Amino acid sequence: MPELPEVETVANGVHERVHGQIIERVWTSGKPQTFKSPESEIAGVLTGARIERVRRVGKTIVVSLSRQTRGDSPHPTSASVGHPSSSVVSSAEFLVHLGMTGRLLVSAPSVEVPKHTHAILSLSGGNELRFVDARRFGRLSVRASEEDAYDGPGIEPLTVSEDDFVALFRGRKTPIKAALLNQSLLHGVGNIYADESLFRAGIRPRRQAGRLTRKELLKLREALKVVLAHAIELGGSSVSDYVDADGVRGFFQLEHRVYMRTGQPCLVCGSPIKKITVGGRSTHYCAVCQK
Ligand SMILES: [Zn+2]
Repeated sequence: MPELPEVETVANGVHERVHGQIIERVWTSGKPQTFKSPESEIAGVLTGARIERVRRVGKTIVVSLSRQTRGDSPHPTSASVGHPSSSVVSSAEFLVHLGMTGRLLVSAPSVEVPKHTHAILSLSGGNELRFVDARRFGRLSVRASEEDAYDGPGIEPLTVSEDDFVALFRGRKTPIKAALLNQSLLHGVGNIYADESLFRAGIRPRRQAGRLTRKELLKLREALKVVLAHAIELGGSSVSDYVDADGVRGFFQLEHRVYMRTGQPCLVCGSPIKKITVGGRSTHYCAVCQK
C-alpha cells in the first residue's frame, strides 16, 4: 500500500510530466467503486480543463485545474488588448486516492492499455494519464471551484509546528502507535513510517499517547519528518519506475530499522526486534532502545 512518501513521489513525477497540458478527452471504465463523484461529472469537470499543478495532500493526489470561460463581451475592443477580460479562469480539483494497488501512469497512446484501467485522460501534449487499479480500493473524485483548496482531514506531518504536534496527542488514551495512524490527526502516516519513527524516537508503540512528555513528542515529530523526508528523497530518484508506463513496477524500499525485521538483531543494540499487534496492526520495536 503506498504511503505518504510514495504518494508524494508519484504526485511530483506526474506533475513534471503533465502540468500545463489540456485534458482533451476523458474515458472512464464504469466500475462504480472507483468513482466517488459520478463519472459524468468527472468527465465534465476534466474535459477541456488545464492541469495547473499535481501535488500530494496526505495520501491523496490533488490535480488543480483551470478553465478558460467566455466572458461577458463577445466583441473584444481594442481597449481590451492586454486586459484579457473575455476569458476568466475558473478552477476545480481532481482527487486521486491510490488505495491499495492504484497507479497513475503517463503513457503514450501506443502503449497497450493495462488490465484494470479505470480512467484515461488524453492530454494536449500527446500522452495519456491513466489510472490503473486491480483491487479497486482507489478512488477518483472532483471538487467544484467554489470550495477551498483541498487540505485533507488531518494535519500535514512534514510541516506541522511543534505546538500543534504536541496538542494533537493531549488527553489521548490510545497507544501512540494507533494515534500516529489516525488519519484525522496526522494525515498520511502509515504502518511502516509509524514503526520507524517510534524506533528513532525511542518510544514504545503501546505507550499511551496522552502520557508522553513534550520532549518525547518533539523527538517523535523530528523522527517522523526525517523518516518521511528521507523516503521522499529515495523515491525521487526512482520516480520513473512507477509513473512512466513502460517502467518497472514497484516502490522503492527505505532501509527499515524495525519494520518487518522480527527476530533480527536491532541495528543499535543487537537485541532481537519484537513484533506485537497494536490497534489491529502489526508493530515492530526494540524493547531495549524504546522505553
Ligand atoms: Zn535496540
